[in-house]
Amino acid sequence: MFEFSERLKALPPYLFVELDRKKAEARARGVDVIDLGVGDPDLPTPSHIVEAGKRALEKPENHRYPSSAGLPAFREAAAEWFARRFGVKLNPATEVVTLIGSKEAIAHFPLAFVNPGEVVLVPTPAYPVYHIGTLFAGGETYYLPLLAENDFRPELARIPEEVLSRAKILWLNYPNNPTTAVVTREWLAEVVSFAREHGLIVAHDAAYSELYYEDYLPPSILEVPGAKEVAIEFHSLSKTYCMTGWRIGFAVGNPELVKGLLTVKNNVDSGCFQAVQEAGIAALSGPQDCVAEHRRIFDERRRVMLEGLRRLGFEVYPPKATFYLWVRVPEGYTSAEFCARLIEEAGIVVTPGNGFGSPGEGYFRIALTVGKERLEEALTRLASLNL
Ligand SMILES: *Cc1c(COP(=O)(O)O)cnc(C)c1O
Repeated sequence: MFEFSERLKALPPYLFVELDRKKAEARARGVDVIDLGVGDPDLPTPSHIVEAGKRALEKPENHRYPSSAGLPAFREAAAEWFARRFGVKLNPATEVVTLIGSKEAIAHFPLAFVNPGEVVLVPTPAYPVYHIGTLFAGGETYYLPLLAENDFRPELARIPEEVLSRAKILWLNYPNNPTTAVVTREWLAEVVSFAREHGLIVAHDAAYSELYYEDYLPPSILEVPGAKEVAIEFHSLSKTYCMTGWRIGFAVGNPELVKGLLTVKNNVDSGCFQAVQEAGIAALSGPQDCVAEHRRIFDERRRVMLEGLRRLGFEVYPPKATFYLWVRVPEGYTSAEFCARLIEEAGIVVTPGNGFGSPGEGYFRIALTVGKERLEEALTRLASLNL
């Protein structure tokens, strides 16, 4: 009786319907399903953060409306964390805004800067929200394929002049979900000069900046001299501190870009629960050995799975960061066919790469969000499949 708006009707099809059905079917058959599909850490939030949240919950002043920009104390904690981690100074009053998780901000940001007919440059395969935020703002998505031969970095020089002249925002996400690719500060410097030359905003999603391995340390785009003129970066406490359910993050960067985002947020939400922000302060300002411990756990899982998959003949992109593995499907299958076979015959759920965009076809994504023993069990089941 009530018709959905054109913008809802234009949402991309949900490609995981069939897989969700197969997963439910397997569970109903009593199969012990190993779910390597969801990018949600299985580890609990560290207890000092939970305790800070509990204490904050008791304070009546936290039961009232927060401000949309966030508690000054949280923004200061974020700025101090940022200075320690990246060596970049931020003004907490104008260059930092609290988010209700970074997803809402990624979705809302284009509303502040994109007019109908203007273009947003969106990598593919990718987290779907960059395109959806563009769609909701009435903008036009121009996809930048991330290909293995370019180490999953977009080829900016190949964007047609006609597209660039209408382009407003360039989205990037490194360390990357789903490909696990990483970049150097030098490459980010090239992006910044490209953006300055073409009048583009660079919106960098840094959700995985703290989940890194071996000798790699992910840079912030704001480390690049001059980046603050064109860039905004989205940070999340979700993956770093295993706080996905709390809904907290922050955006930093150019004051006008921060102000535009804040103006949208002022008009749609009333800010992040202050008790959650106090827990966030405990996370950012407290001891960071919990983060090192999270890295150690994911690194151990990463090594087990990487080695095991390679032994079985899988081609895995070597991950320097994130808690995913990006793996080629064996010869003779599409992503969907292979993932269907894994759930039906081995009770293993992984995500087909094409679900993140068509250049993801031929890959699947493994989330290392179950314990080492379960990963070993998954490897045993894979070995018995005779692929
Ligand atoms: C998980 C994730 C986010 C968002 O997480 P929030 O919980 O909303 O902060 C953003 N970008 C990418 C690529 C992610 O994987």
